Amino acid sequence: GVALMMGLTACSAERTDDAGDDGSAAAEAGGLIGIAMPTKSLERWNKDGAHLEELLQEAGYETTLQYADNKVDQQITQLQNMINQDPEVLVVASIDGTALAPVLQTAADAGIKIIAYDRLINGTDNVDYYATFDNYNVGQLQGEFIVETLDLENAAGPFNLEPFAGSPDDNNAKFFFSGAWDVLLPYIESGKLVVPSGQSPASNDDWASIGITGWSSETAQSEMQNRLNSFYATGKVDVVLSPNDSLALGIVQALEGSGYAVGTDWPLVTGQDGDQANVMNMLADKQAMTVWKDTRTLGDQVALMVDQIVTGEDVDVNDTETYDNGNKVVPTFLLPPVVVTKDTVQSILVDSDFYSASDLGL
Ligand code: BGC
Repeated sequence: GVALMMGLTACSAERTDDAGDDGSAAAEAGGLIGIAMPTKSLERWNKDGAHLEELLQEAGYETTLQYADNKVDQQITQLQNMINQDPEVLVVASIDGTALAPVLQTAADAGIKIIAYDRLINGTDNVDYYATFDNYNVGQLQGEFIVETLDLENAAGPFNLEPFAGSPDDNNAKFFFSGAWDVLLPYIESGKLVVPSGQSPASNDDWASIGITGWSSETAQSEMQNRLNSFYATGKVDVVLSPNDSLALGIVQALEGSGYAVGTDWPLVTGQDGDQANVMNMLADKQAMTVWKDTRTLGDQVALMVDQIVTGEDVDVNDTETYDNGNKVVPTFLLPPVVVTKDTVQSILVDSDFYSASDLGL
């Protein structure tokens, strides 16, 4: 009792009063860090959470890591429980980017700093930093891959395109779509790409009409099935813009269900994340590319941010203009996404130990 009390007192005195070697006030690393992740159902978030937790624990922090099954209320309850444990920092990969303002106000009132992880949180002053991959660039890379692979500059076309977008409540989804659409829309306007289903947003701002709620594979599958059934009695789909791997999985299932076959009429399908099932699909020629985001680098950056916040150092950011959350422009660290195709699975994903060869049956 007493010893623990004294330990805590000494510790908290150190945090605030100790002078560093250079005479500046230095706080010590350590304390509790809360990590809120959206769902275990997508492979990447499991990797994200496990890696960040490991790094922070190695650096001397305690952690509490919670997954919310893609349910907004559950995530709010988890955050509230974390706040009650008085963490130093909350790291939040939000489900609904507009629903967390009240709970984050409670956190800020308790002096807790908040890092938005991968997805920006909107409508609140209480997001101190944001770390993510360059979300607009993710979409650009998908669009450019389509332009280059179909050789849209030179080929006669027209090619049948079916575009999809991500979950309307995820702030990233509009960036992914805008990046891709800025590349592809000129080819739609010139008639090289046509969208038989009519699900073709006239501008970037209309993307939510083709958004797949909750990034659900099942919803993407049934939407693709509907489009194939209704608009492809004659003609074939040539290319599907899928914003991420979970949608691509459903889209591929719908294509298989409609009798598309690799080597004959299989269309180009894009993706994002480099999830294992999708890499397997790439090796089987069912998905043409994925935009890989090495979640280890994001975890490394966020662990550094946490440490910089707790120890009172300057926090590394490299973008202070892009991510306006409606209340403020949130200082951001952007990481570069990377295109992976079948041909670079080994050199990019295996050689970096993201996967072992045996994970992929190689
Ligand atoms: C992430 C993607 C992910 C998607 C679905 C997005 O916010 O940036 O990597 O595929 O959510 O979880």
